[in-house]
Amino acid sequence: MTHDKIDFDEFLESLKRRTPGEDAFHQAVSEVVPDLLPIVNDTPQYREAAILDRLTEPDRIISFRVDWRDDDNIVHVNRGYRVQFNSAIGPYKGGLRFQPSVNQSMLKFLGFEQIFKNALTGLPLGGGKGGADFDPSGRSEGEIMRFCQSYMQELHRHIGPDVDIPAGDINVGSREIGWLFGTYRRITNQVEGVLTGKGLSMGGAEIRTEATGYGVVQFLCHMLAEQGDRIDGKTLVISGAGNVATHAAELAIRDGAKVITLSDSNGYIHDRNGLTQEKIDWVKDHKSKSGASLEAYADEFDATWCADAAPWGVPCDVALPCATENELGKDGVNALIDNGCTTIVEGANMPTTAEAKKAIRDADLLFGPGKAANAGGVAVSGLEISQNRQRRTQTRQELADALKDIMQTIHDSCAEFGQSKAGINYTKGANIAGFTKVAEAMHAEGVT
Ligand code: NDP
Repeated sequence: MTHDKIDFDEFLESLKRRTPGEDAFHQAVSEVVPDLLPIVNDTPQYREAAILDRLTEPDRIISFRVDWRDDDNIVHVNRGYRVQFNSAIGPYKGGLRFQPSVNQSMLKFLGFEQIFKNALTGLPLGGGKGGADFDPSGRSEGEIMRFCQSYMQELHRHIGPDVDIPAGDINVGSREIGWLFGTYRRITNQVEGVLTGKGLSMGGAEIRTEATGYGVVQFLCHMLAEQGDRIDGKTLVISGAGNVATHAAELAIRDGAKVITLSDSNGYIHDRNGLTQEKIDWVKDHKSKSGASLEAYADEFDATWCADAAPWGVPCDVALPCATENELGKDGVNALIDNGCTTIVEGANMPTTAEAKKAIRDADLLFGPGKAANAGGVAVSGLEISQNRQRRTQTRQELADALKDIMQTIHDSCAEFGQSKAGINYTKGANIAGFTKVAEAMHAEGVT
């Protein structure tokens, strides 16, 4: 069967039958596979080796119970996961997310995307993702620490510097990575680079915290340069107020852009005067307090607070969705277009719905997909792995230069593989460039 040319609808139907109810995963696969089919259908050895079927089935999924006690000594039970999706080109690599909405489908979509993203960086990193349906909002430091310790109590069996090297993601920052790493070290008696995003005192890499957001803006600058355009003087609307959003805002401002919004799960702020470094520092500090809402920004800095809404109706040149998946729908895209936006670059993973992507294509907007634009974080994580293995430390400047080089290379690969008469299709370019590397490795290792 796998020797026959593959029909997309049949392929998707079969995937849905095997993985019922995994909507986010189906969405991610649907957005990638159509770009890959012409290559697979033209390459008999890929069909013979069932590359697409194997690429859409994780190597393994680990699911486990996480028990922990709250400050009132009450026992809670959560579910932890690690999806080890594909290690054809290197150890599994991808973040850990702690959020009540975490489930297998979400982590499979993120792990699947991660395969292509990691391949695009040019580093030997496979794709994985993990997390738990734990809600840290309103929890004390002690409660979150105990949760991390309990989570690692099980996870440590499944990871290692040559096996799987997790990092942070939503609600897992360097504080949580520190607690996870400390627990791993105590259980295994090994001081090794088994997690990235660590604090500097634990062997973490300079600029890792900033890398994803900075990389998004660097990618945007390369896209604009390709059009003979520049970021300075542009007005940016950014969603999110976490790691990716605040650091994207930081570099954009430094590069001469005006950033006028940030958002969180309660709403968004519209600051007509534009954010400054001082205001961003305030946001970072404020949002580091568990459960703090961005609403307080409006009083602090004379801005407008819009509750329970996303910032897509605010006039801008460029939009950077940097909060979460499916946060930008078709209506949001149409509002952006009506208000003059010409460019959308994804800072978050799959923040744009399938319908929104169609609206973007129909309107011929310049579009940067997350798997390419937000790869700066995992790229610096890759460099953190190298420095841990070599027991050395690279300077901030060395890492900043390396990040710049990698984002340029990612842009250029996407541009090369996404070139068409109508211009560059960055999504297609990213999908094909990432796939080519992984498929070659999967084919080369054979099938048992
Ligand atoms: P953070 O936890 O630091 O910040 C997430 C932000 O998104 C918060 O402001 C949060 O608001 C907001 N948010 C979460 N859920 C929603 C929602 N349903 N509606 C509106 N806003 C929401 O995460 P990161 O900045 O690290 O990650 C953001 C995105 O970037 C994710 O998609 C992540 O997978 C992706 N990413 C992150 C990388 C990294 O290095 N950190 C690397 C590559 C991708 P609130 O505070 O109210 O919860």
